[in-house]
Amino acid sequence: MSISRRTTIVSASGLLGAVLLSACGKQTTDAASGASGSASASASPSASASASASPSEKLVAWTDNAAVSHLFFHSLVADPKRAFDGDSEAGGYLDYMVTIKEFKSVLQQVYDRNYVLVSPHQLYTATPDGGLTPKALDLPEGKKPLVISFDDLSYYEYMNGDGFADRLIVKDGKVVNEYHDASGKKLTGAYDHLPIVDEFVEQHPDFSHDGAKGVIALTGYNGILGYRTSDYSYKDENKNIEADKKKAKEVAEAIKKSGWEFASHSWGHINFTTSPLEHIREDNEKWQREVAPLIGKTDLLIYPFGADIAKVEDYAGAKFDYLKSQGFNAFFNVDGSTPAWGQLRPNYLREARINVDGISLKYALKGQQTALLEFFDPKAVLDPARPPSISGS
Ligand SMILES: [Zn+2]
Repeated sequence: MSISRRTTIVSASGLLGAVLLSACGKQTTDAASGASGSASASASPSASASASASPSEKLVAWTDNAAVSHLFFHSLVADPKRAFDGDSEAGGYLDYMVTIKEFKSVLQQVYDRNYVLVSPHQLYTATPDGGLTPKALDLPEGKKPLVISFDDLSYYEYMNGDGFADRLIVKDGKVVNEYHDASGKKLTGAYDHLPIVDEFVEQHPDFSHDGAKGVIALTGYNGILGYRTSDYSYKDENKNIEADKKKAKEVAEAIKKSGWEFASHSWGHINFTTSPLEHIREDNEKWQREVAPLIGKTDLLIYPFGADIAKVEDYAGAKFDYLKSQGFNAFFNVDGSTPAWGQLRPNYLREARINVDGISLKYALKGQQTALLEFFDPKAVLDPARPPSISGS
């Protein structure tokens, strides 16, 4: 799998505005996949019914909160014609994105297969001093927990004009996208995953456990949610930066209100495996200064490129101590080799995520990526608008 294209950008965190691909990564050969060797077995519900079960709905306690499946996506291709047009970005979109049609099909299939959306915060309780304990997760009998996350929800500059939504706005109390179609007409509606999931949960309320939706991982260098809010990047360039910050904050509040949560994805999409602690510290300070004030504090960290600070061994050492001191309790790498992997320890939760994108679809279709088969039929979800190569690499 191609990770070289992404690993070339990681040291230039201050210059990422022009970077073509800030997709998050499928580090299936490095830190994350080392984990799979000792992966926790997939949890299965225990037979004991919860005391809180209603007569009509038997609740069953999930037995292992470290073994909860987690799928992640990047922004969706709204217009395959413009995204897959053969220009210099097209290969990256084919590799790291799925289309709206593909995403809707995946959602329907995971729902049909009895998955139910849960939040990482429904898996653990954290004390103020950073201690973690498992939280009881009682699901209707037959249901399986699933975390979903969306990386890089910034509508990066490089995506402009390539058939993606422009940003998120609040309209009539709902969070929707603004999107310019191929003719330049501005539309509002569900042109990316967040409002699509909101609509799906409205139609299928039992898909959401106690109101959970998903996790949104944000960098800072191109601003957030489609607003160019970064002082480092846009102080002179964006004359409306203060108004944009205000709007972004309002949108973020509406997003949280509807059940979503935010995670840090680092400010500059840095590689936590290779970056020295000092670089991690500098980057996190930027994120805390520019992003946290807009979205609120978070204890969730989603590693860019899936590049973790450790392999399968338990977390320890200076990088971990620093991240804990910054309030992070839950950490997410990438491992597409198993339906669920995680560690729930007295001071952290670590979970592997599975990328759903052109690369994983291609390998799933070739029978070389079997974890996705647990969630959906890759052949059935494939958008005919995708070229025969399926991925770009
Ligand atoms: Zn990313």
